[in-house]
Amino acid sequence: MLKFLAFLFLGVLCYNIFMIYLDHAAATPVSEKVFEAMKPYFSDDFFNPSAAYLPAKKIASDYENAKAVIAHAIGAKASDLIITAGATEANNLAFTATNGEILYLETEHDSVRRVAEKYGGKIIRVLPSGLIDLKDLKSKITDKTELISVSLVNNELGTIQPLAEVAGIIREVKLDRMKRGIKTGLLLHSDASQALNLLDINVSRLGIDLLTLNAAKVYGPKGVGALYVSHDARLKPLTYGGGQENGLRSGTENVPGVIGFAKAVELAKKHLNANRKKYTEWKKTLLSELKDYELINKKHALDNFIVLCYNGIDAERLVFLLEEKEVYVATGAACAASKGVRSHVLKAIGLTDEQIAGSLRITFGETNDEEQIHEAAKIINDVVKTERARITACS
Ligand code: PLP
Repeated sequence: MLKFLAFLFLGVLCYNIFMIYLDHAAATPVSEKVFEAMKPYFSDDFFNPSAAYLPAKKIASDYENAKAVIAHAIGAKASDLIITAGATEANNLAFTATNGEILYLETEHDSVRRVAEKYGGKIIRVLPSGLIDLKDLKSKITDKTELISVSLVNNELGTIQPLAEVAGIIREVKLDRMKRGIKTGLLLHSDASQALNLLDINVSRLGIDLLTLNAAKVYGPKGVGALYVSHDARLKPLTYGGGQENGLRSGTENVPGVIGFAKAVELAKKHLNANRKKYTEWKKTLLSELKDYELINKKHALDNFIVLCYNGIDAERLVFLLEEKEVYVATGAACAASKGVRSHVLKAIGLTDEQIAGSLRITFGETNDEEQIHEAAKIINDVVKTERARITACS
């Protein structure tokens, strides 16, 4: 037994020491401080916040304070947030705001695309840069359009969308509708799952009515998210029950999850500028040390996102070969990749099938250091070289 435990311990140790994890857009580990903050709420402070006795009231108050911290980070109040079991649920909830016409960006995450499709949503095109085509947006808004959904940061390319400009167009449309006596409202929803880590978000400044947040992408727990809801938006519940979260998300509150989310948000805000600077440097380093690639997301990308294309090589094979060297990267959104589906995002920006097949996504994060970046460059170069030699020998 002792031998087995020693083996297990060594195994875990080795795994952590040698692994170079470059897929932080897919998942971030719960940070130590977040985990510490959550722990008491699994055991000593386990009470149901809805219960009438004093210890439970303390939990209810801790929960509200944690919501206030998350809300404050986006310039909102605790009462504006609906806590959900992740971003997928928050995105689904956002779309209950309307029975009217919906427009959504063609590069959205599946948790937006699928629900938008279900409501008969129409696509807004992107430009080859990955940015929203504002002309296409304007041409598709009708007097019946009630909801426009554009993510703040794309999860495959890291493209940061000009949401303030989208909000400006929406303001003009609303003004014009008012002048013509049309009462139909028009809401802007944005999925900011990938953004909270590295962007300073303010819902009023950006002109957002509905904003999706995701704890799992900011070193918080998985299965915890939130939807910011402005006073102009009227939602319908997806589930019915005890009436928690203003009746919009019934079910006993996930207190440890929300406490962890708040801590994660607090840490993200504290380290935002330093992290941005660090990732920008690492991006420069990696791009200068890597060989023989085409950079796909040249502009408008978040500091920790790199999408590279190795022409003529199957990136899925590269992912597998790199895994053997304990370097973890992605070919696209984790969920799409696991189903073997070609990226709709890379297709939307006009890449050929061959380019899509050869594209790798690298996303830095807090598990990395500078030494790992140099090491990763070396390993990726070696693996690509060997793979090219293999392909040449076979042809
Ligand atoms: N939206 C974006 C942009 C994402 O990247 C993800 C997850 O990868 C989601 C939504 C879904 O998040 P979850 O699986 O935590 O619900």
